[in-house]
Amino acid sequence: MPDPIILGTIGLDDVKTPFGEVKSALGGSSVYSSIAASFFSEPGIIAPAGQDLPKDYEDFLKSRGISLKGVVKKGKNFRWQGYYEYDMNEAKTINTELNSLADFDPKIPEEYKKAKFVFLANIDPEIQIKVLKQVEDPKFVMIDSMNFWIEIKREKLLEAMSKADAILLNEGEARMLFKTPSLVKAGRQMLDLGVRYAIIKKGEHGSLLFSDNSYFSAPGYPLEDVVDPTGAGDSFAGAIIGYLSKTQDISEKNMRKAIVYGSTIASFNAEGFSVNNLKTLTMQKIEKRFEEFRDLGDF
Ligand code: AMP
Repeated sequence: MPDPIILGTIGLDDVKTPFGEVKSALGGSSVYSSIAASFFSEPGIIAPAGQDLPKDYEDFLKSRGISLKGVVKKGKNFRWQGYYEYDMNEAKTINTELNSLADFDPKIPEEYKKAKFVFLANIDPEIQIKVLKQVEDPKFVMIDSMNFWIEIKREKLLEAMSKADAILLNEGEARMLFKTPSLVKAGRQMLDLGVRYAIIKKGEHGSLLFSDNSYFSAPGYPLEDVVDPTGAGDSFAGAIIGYLSKTQDISEKNMRKAIVYGSTIASFNAEGFSVNNLKTLTMQKIEKRFEEFRDLGDF
């Protein structure tokens, strides 16, 4: 039985950064997050896909032990075109083609219904709600989103978020959703939706974790060469849910560790285009960089 289960997009991405570009590269929120989760556990994806999704992309995901039973192929694949300038913390969207996402009506496979850890990655919040309803007795649900959905489905998104145990947003999106420049206020408002944890991602500057009685700030890894940050947020989240599922421990202390694993895998992901760097990543490299994080926060 796959656990965690991860809902999100499978994308064919055209991405340009100051260091190069790729076309129709493998991407999407469920892809990056399930690859990151697969270092710790055996995730299953729920996602719309198209008939034009290259077979070698699917084969790669399967080779990571990821279940694709919840992937429904119909028509043309979701496509995203974006670019980054020298400030690589902000992705600029040129075009989003929803294609098979537009009429995706998720029916999750029987074997996914008993999953305990669920990640509702970035996708239409109405789909996030529909999927969550089908999971019988989840122990921990984490949810993410982005400006695209905040702009067009704010109320549905707030409804979906209020059903989760943890909300994850990047700093720009948190400010936008809660209409405040203060990340501390945004974190509080995330908690006010009834969740246990609020996580705010700050790109290369790390992340913040809020709970009712604690505050944690994880540093960013001092990377010299960020080549393509696409998927950093998703791989950060995927590592968190994969690690929590592996350890079955949702305490605040373990959440801090999960976040540092998230930052570790996200930093490796940003060192290459698309999912390329995740292909050669090993647990040994992850553990080594995880230990380096300890020194970054020690004084
Ligand atoms: P991030 O981790 O935030 O960099 O996510 C990057 C991925 O999000 C890309 O691979 C895109 O395919 C995917 N994406 C872009 N726009 C959307 C959207 N509106 N909904 C869901 N996924 C998206």
